Amino acid sequence: MQTKAFAAQSATTPLALTTIDRREPGAADVAIEILYCGVCHSDLHTARGEWGGVRFPSVPGHEIVGRVTRVGSDVSKFKAGDIVGVGCMVDSCRTCASCNEGLEQYCRGPHGFQGTYNGWVDGSGENTYGGYSAAVVVDQGFVLKISHAEADLAAVAPLLCAGITTWSPLRHWNAGPGKKVGVVGIGGLGHMGVKLARALGAHVVAFTTSASKVQAALDLGAHEVVISRNADEMAAHVNSFDFILNTVAVSHDLDAFTNLLKRDGTMTLVGAPSSPHPSPSVMGLIFGRKSIAGSLIGGIAETQEMLDFCAKHGITSDIEMIAMQDIENAYERMLKSDVKYRFVIDMATL
Ligand code: NAP
Ligand code: ZN
Ligand code: ZN
Repeated sequence: MQTKAFAAQSATTPLALTTIDRREPGAADVAIEILYCGVCHSDLHTARGEWGGVRFPSVPGHEIVGRVTRVGSDVSKFKAGDIVGVGCMVDSCRTCASCNEGLEQYCRGPHGFQGTYNGWVDGSGENTYGGYSAAVVVDQGFVLKISHAEADLAAVAPLLCAGITTWSPLRHWNAGPGKKVGVVGIGGLGHMGVKLARALGAHVVAFTTSASKVQAALDLGAHEVVISRNADEMAAHVNSFDFILNTVAVSHDLDAFTNLLKRDGTMTLVGAPSSPHPSPSVMGLIFGRKSIAGSLIGGIAETQEMLDFCAKHGITSDIEMIAMQDIENAYERMLKSDVKYRFVIDMATL
């Protein structure tokens, strides 16, 4: 099926209109008309080749909300007209230990999980194309049910990556009542981290480099906000956090935050900068039995759990809607931390 899409033809050319081929839906497939697609910093890292290993043309976008147009003969969970979501994965091996535990993002099959975009398998000649497009065809096992109101759908799209990427570590490290939780970087991921940690019952402290975001972070649900460039404000929180979720997309000094963990505390990195962080102080970790960890998106079952939790608690993303043609401008603004808090593409503009 010929499908309109916006693609980068190389790491140095701006995204532009093109046509891609989508497969005819097979027996287990769901064909989806894309209504909205969020703009993740990972889209920018990929389109500009910052992580390497990109196959061009590249069609980014893994925060997809759309309407089902057709389903294959084996599909029972979805029917034409349903509103559904697709996140960062469209397939995995389904047989390894991680897949069996519902943690498809850590698939240890021969190719790992298949990304919604740039999910090419070496030697196969095939690539996957993401949500900056009119339609997508996805196996039913990787399609999510959306139960939010129609009016909220654009603001639901970022839950499919920013939401689950913060939900999964918050749950894994037991953010909840009685826990002091920090969220570093109040961008697309971070603002969802604040909302979700608050909804889970934790005491939430937002760390930002942007003085202009202080009031906004409180409005998102933070109990306290710290300007991370202010040493005095940072010092007031030394040895006090159970858990810190770090979403910053650039290399930076991790000690500034591990110093704020209490004994046995963990800082989990979800930001994936293209250049490494300076080595953290090992002594700082040793003398407090502290951990630095990482976390990758979330499994399909926990993504559904997060979507259902958000629908129940009235949680969506704070978004700025853009036309597809404004994507390069949106990327530039994202690089300046100038987005409150997620761009979402209205796919009708494609
Ligand atoms: P984003 O919207 O650009 O947010 C990043 C935030 O980091 C900015 O808004 C800013 O917040 C802060 N920041 C920017 N420059 C900084 C600097 N020089 N020093 C300190 N803080 C700075 O990006 P995003 O979409 O949330 O993605 C964040 C990162 O997570 C990206 O690297 C992305 O690829 C990665 N990611 C990882 C996963 C995963 O599974 N682990 C999933 C999705 C995305 P303030 O203005 O508040 O300082
Ligand atoms: Zn993402
Ligand atoms: Zn697997």
